[in-house]
Amino acid sequence: MLVDLHMHTAVSSPCSQIDPQLLIEVASRIGLDAICVTEHEEMEGAEVTRRLGAEAGYPVFRGVEVYTELGDMLVFGLYRPKFPFQTPFAELLSEVREAGGVIIPCHPCRGSLGFHHIMGNERAEFLLANVDAIETRNGGSSPESNSAAEAYADRYGLPGTGGSDAHFLMQVGRCLTVFERDIDSEAQLVGEIKAGRCRAAYASEVESLKLSELWR
Ligand SMILES: [Zn+2]
Ligand SMILES: [Zn+2]
Repeated sequence: MLVDLHMHTAVSSPCSQIDPQLLIEVASRIGLDAICVTEHEEMEGAEVTRRLGAEAGYPVFRGVEVYTELGDMLVFGLYRPKFPFQTPFAELLSEVREAGGVIIPCHPCRGSLGFHHIMGNERAEFLLANVDAIETRNGGSSPESNSAAEAYADRYGLPGTGGSDAHFLMQVGRCLTVFERDIDSEAQLVGEIKAGRCRAAYASEVESLKLSELWR
């Protein structure tokens, strides 16, 4: 099952140009089986897109991207309309754990610098001991940064996830997550990530994806 786990819509990300209705049409046309909308610090766009998806019979899962002092975190399985900007990581972590969700550092090695270099050894070890996966394929990051993130995932035994980080329709699906099993619900999505039954990919590595359809 092919899922783009990281995207922004114009509903609640002012930095994005993506209309949620068009997003669903494009995602299904290029061969993504589901998408996750992950706005910055709020969930309205995810909620709006989920409802449109339900009407169209296309699975849309809700997530959020929260800025913490240890970098941006993708969160799935914790639902609330808004999160404060720069939520302390430890606070977010305890809420995620209470809700049974997952927390995933996204585009963690931009500039290909490692966690330890960016935040110091102690904080890096704390972070890596407490996250459920690492985003190792981010559409907005360089191949070097993605490879650096992947090396961390390997070293720490964490699953890798992928997402386009799309802010424009043409960017949808450029990175994605391949799940071993079909996913019908947000709870299942969280469960599959926790179980590590997924891998991150570039669009070019997935034959069934038809990115050329973006140009139609
Ligand atoms: Zn980000
Ligand atoms: Zn993002």
